Amino acid sequence: MSNSVHVYDTTLRDGAQQEGLNLSIADKMTIAGLLDELAVDFIEGGWPGAIPKDTEFFARANELELAHSTLAAFGSTRKPGVAVEDDEQVAALLAAGTPVVTLVAKSHVGHVERALRTTPSENLAMITDTIRYLSANGRRVFLDAEHFFDSFATSRTYALDVVAAADEAGAEVVALCDTNGGMLPSRVREAVDAVKLAVPGARLGMHAHNDTGCAVANSIAAVEAGATHVQGTINGYGERTGNADVLTVALNLDLKLGLGTLPEHSRAEASRIAHAISEHTNIPAGARQPYVGSSAFAHKAGLHASAIRVDPDLYQHIDPRAVGNDMRMLISDMAGRASIELKGKELGFDLAGDAELLGRVATRVKELESRGYTFDAADASFELLLREELGGRPHFFDVVNWRTIILAAETSVDGEVDTAEATVKVRIDGKKTIATCEGNGPVNALDKALRQVLEGAYPQLAAVNLVDYKVRILDSASGTDAVTRVLIESTDGAASWTTVGVAANVVEASWVALLDSLVYYLAARSDAVPAPVPVGAHA
Ligand SMILES: [Zn+2]
Repeated sequence: MSNSVHVYDTTLRDGAQQEGLNLSIADKMTIAGLLDELAVDFIEGGWPGAIPKDTEFFARANELELAHSTLAAFGSTRKPGVAVEDDEQVAALLAAGTPVVTLVAKSHVGHVERALRTTPSENLAMITDTIRYLSANGRRVFLDAEHFFDSFATSRTYALDVVAAADEAGAEVVALCDTNGGMLPSRVREAVDAVKLAVPGARLGMHAHNDTGCAVANSIAAVEAGATHVQGTINGYGERTGNADVLTVALNLDLKLGLGTLPEHSRAEASRIAHAISEHTNIPAGARQPYVGSSAFAHKAGLHASAIRVDPDLYQHIDPRAVGNDMRMLISDMAGRASIELKGKELGFDLAGDAELLGRVATRVKELESRGYTFDAADASFELLLREELGGRPHFFDVVNWRTIILAAETSVDGEVDTAEATVKVRIDGKKTIATCEGNGPVNALDKALRQVLEGAYPQLAAVNLVDYKVRILDSASGTDAVTRVLIESTDGAASWTTVGVAANVVEASWVALLDSLVYYLAARSDAVPAPVPVGAHA
């Protein structure tokens, strides 16, 4: 076993195949940034040339400024009977400009003949030509051998021929794909053993789907048999039952097999990053996910309560802090002080020395979370809360009141149908100001009115734009009415930040998040303004 196993994330490509998961380009950029924080080795960004959004993502990839991860573009080998330099898809892969290109190739005769409608030997030539061409153009080339395990079971020689052809042509990695997800760990081990014998020089990878519930186990089995590259997605996103959960795989490799695939400091951020990504995918994080789930270290107190307090290690398989999680007692809940301290540090506040303050923040976070708030993605709202507890939340204005009404307009006067109207009244330095605006919905109208009423005193708010808006209805565990959580992402063109609001209805929740967004910006900007230099002083 090598202790340099690649962690290859395909959340943005294979993960995005999940039913109900739709990523905007802004989402993809943000998630790529979070994956880089996690320090995965490779980020597969999408399929340029085939999916327009992915082409645009790669065009903007230089904005990402990745510190650790290497970007990969995914695409197929040249088409049958087409010269590789004339193939448009291959040209799009080069145009994506990524250091790594991952080619998908058929490795199953049935798929070659029926889906590609070509011969097994032409398929091998397509693999060889495309790898050589991309390598000659300076790309590191990985090959995903699609349906490898099904082919290995029915036409073993051809499956091995594909791996050999890719290796000979210069592929740095040949990932064996359990495309149908039907494998078991023992069979994966057997196949990897056979490939190693047949093509001894090849660096092998594993791409597992979870149809047998074994995607993680199959990935671990492949590594134990000698694979040194694992592919997967955050939170196990993917079509059908999903892909291998890349975090569970990597954390198992690191914490159980001592392979060190992720640096220790990014492992300690694993829970936060997994949850932040689930806010951007707008798919609720699974409480029972290994390592990072909110229940992963939650103990029903009862009989064991006092023993857990004395020695929690007796009841948990690792120290939850290693993955940025916390032990929780379900009866007397301890909100995560460690994660609050970590997040505070990340935002530039050193809370380590102040146990009393940490306790106060933890209590407030816990109380807000019980009402439906989440701060995993809403860093800006968390920072405002922190500033408040530190006594440093600057005061800019007071909201006197606001209201919004839905307009039952049937006809358009100026080409646009404004369906809502909002009025916002605030007090700034003792002076009352009021504004009324129309919008294409109540939240849009409120957003406009709030900015208009503030813009005289705070012209810098003109730079702020709302870029993303996510609504989630939360079932209440206690059987009371459901509440609505709204996450708003805003930008001033240079930085972006996310705020959260929770209320009984979507308009009120949106208002809370909108207000936080503008206050956060004013607070951040007022920090950035240097104190005035006294007259006569020289710098
Ligand atoms: Zn796949």
